[in-house]
Amino acid sequence: MINLLIMGKPGAGKGTQASRLLEHYQLTHISTGDIYREEMAKDSEIGKLAKEYIGKGELVPDDITNDIVKEVLHKQDYPKGFMLDGFPRTKAQAVALDKMMDELGITLTSVINVDVDDSVLLERMAGRRVCSNCGATYHIHFHPPVKDCVCDLCGHPLIQREDDLEESVLNRLKIYNEKTKPLLDYYKKKGLLFVVNGDMPKDKVFRIITQKLGD
Ligand code: ADP
Ligand code: ADP
Ligand code: ZN
Repeated sequence: MINLLIMGKPGAGKGTQASRLLEHYQLTHISTGDIYREEMAKDSEIGKLAKEYIGKGELVPDDITNDIVKEVLHKQDYPKGFMLDGFPRTKAQAVALDKMMDELGITLTSVINVDVDDSVLLERMAGRRVCSNCGATYHIHFHPPVKDCVCDLCGHPLIQREDDLEESVLNRLKIYNEKTKPLLDYYKKKGLLFVVNGDMPKDKVFRIITQKLGD
């Protein structure tokens, strides 16, 4: 079983690498951002609550997020392992994750940090487009769909995420620096951290990660 955690600033390319790695290692994807977007699309209670934070680029409170991940992990629906993407984002979430994993008798194999400069991030998020149906991610310059504004995978229209508008992006970066960045040290001390330079074409970033993890 391979249990990975992928970290990086918003727009670093976590989701892009995660989707390749999932396929490669047959892992189950656990993305709190995706879960929240699905809940918002369904207009569920959790979705309505999350929307108040997400639109502003703020974090959804820890107890809500921890409960969601706990429920997913306890289903144990990850025969080959899982890939956490976008969780944990705060020290309290990291501590909660350790406890959840202890209870289940499992451990993290590796924490991958996709590292890029802020200047690159702004360009990436400004050009990011996502499928309104399946959530697949594109970029208007770096990963354009075959047909303009339409998802290659399912044919539905691509949209810009509300939280990818500039004001929210800057707020997310600030929150990342305050709350999430300290986690790198937390995982470094545990000997789990692997840093990869994310400012390279996505295929190359992928190859470096798989070389490190072993094919
Ligand atoms: P995150 O999940 O970290 O927020 P994404 O994977 O959604 O980031 O990537 C952000 C944007 O940058 C998307 O539009 C994506 O297509 C693009 N992107 C991802 N990786 C690269 C890369 N290595 N080079 C150029 N653009 C990239
Ligand atoms: P990004 O592309 O910025 O890395 P995600 O898709 O992972 O973003 O998450 C989008 C938004 O959902 C976040 O800005 C935050 O508001 C909320 N969110 C996702 N994961 C978490 C989490 N672990 N804790 C709190 N809020 C979260
Ligand atoms: Zn799609």
